[in-house]
Amino acid sequence: MALLVMSEDYVRALIGKLMKETRVVAPHVREGRKQWQFADVVDPGRVALEYVSTILPPKKYAFPTEDDLVHWRTEEGFSAEPVLSVEPLVLFGVHPCDIYGLESLDISLTDTYVDPNWVARRRAMRIVGIDCLPDEWCFCSSMKTCSVSSGYDLFLTPINNWSEYVAEAATGAGAAMLAVAEGREASSHDLAQMRAWQNDKLARQRDRRINTEVNDLPLHFTGFADSVVWERWSRKCYSCGTCNTTCPTCFCFDVLDKLKLSLDEGYRSRVWDGCMLEDFAVVAPHENFREERHERLRHRFYRKYAYLYTRYGRPYCSGCGRCVRQCLADIDPVKVINDLLTEARKEAAGHGL
Ligand code: SF4
Ligand code: SF4
Repeated sequence: MALLVMSEDYVRALIGKLMKETRVVAPHVREGRKQWQFADVVDPGRVALEYVSTILPPKKYAFPTEDDLVHWRTEEGFSAEPVLSVEPLVLFGVHPCDIYGLESLDISLTDTYVDPNWVARRRAMRIVGIDCLPDEWCFCSSMKTCSVSSGYDLFLTPINNWSEYVAEAATGAGAAMLAVAEGREASSHDLAQMRAWQNDKLARQRDRRINTEVNDLPLHFTGFADSVVWERWSRKCYSCGTCNTTCPTCFCFDVLDKLKLSLDEGYRSRVWDGCMLEDFAVVAPHENFREERHERLRHRFYRKYAYLYTRYGRPYCSGCGRCVRQCLADIDPVKVINDLLTEARKEAAGHGL
């Protein structure tokens, strides 16, 4: 494991060097707001190294909001060709929760069907991770995603109050980045600061916890289907789908046909969809098998903390907090899960268990 301590100036100089070779995207502050978004780097000096969370997760670079999949024509008989636009890309400044999100989609999008668009873009992608400190919405400590041991080429841990970064290469691509970077050798004091960073991250979430071990969630969820909690929380829900679209582990999509006016050419495309939207579960002949808001909220939670957890052995929630950070109704996974646990315990006590 190669380690190098880089000053902030050296980190920005490294971004500049990478830009000469490849497209680089990184977090930037949105003008006039305390919000961040991943965007193409034009000036390394404007990259936000110290940020809480971006509005959309970086999955949008491998799984765009709208993606043409097939181009078809009928000019000389019917023909159809797959569409795939891929370019080498460095995702710079990705937090551990979002690295976890990308790795989760690597699993689900290569499971029964290997999604060629996702795979090609992920293969063309290099990841430079960076560590962070939680705000009042993050709950990565409950989900055990405060740190990751894979899914990145290079990882930067801030030390000395964000003035320096310990850079750790995990792959050949990461080592190649370090080879062109400037810095100094890491000391034992630097390594102690890296460890202290992790402890600080956990300590800051002491009062924001899911009241059970994450591994026990699928078991708990076997008893939550009829809980009164779904109805209670869903009364506030606007069915806007923001929690789906901002989530780094959601991957549902709809398929649309886009016709040219000539009607002899078109694209079959996919667009992001979300299970909290009212028409998500509509099937012919306009039957909606999750018509009620509480049914949609329950389904979303079961997907994240039970169905996909059981199938893939990991929660499909990284604790990034985006869903509640952006939710107009303050529907918070931590509070909903803790309410479910409390109600279940009350019910069990009522039965003398
Ligand atoms: S963001 Fe909030 S209000 Fe919108 S669908 Fe999700 S839970 Fe409901
Ligand atoms: S469910 Fe919410 S907290 Fe969990 S990964 Fe999705 S957006 Fe983040």
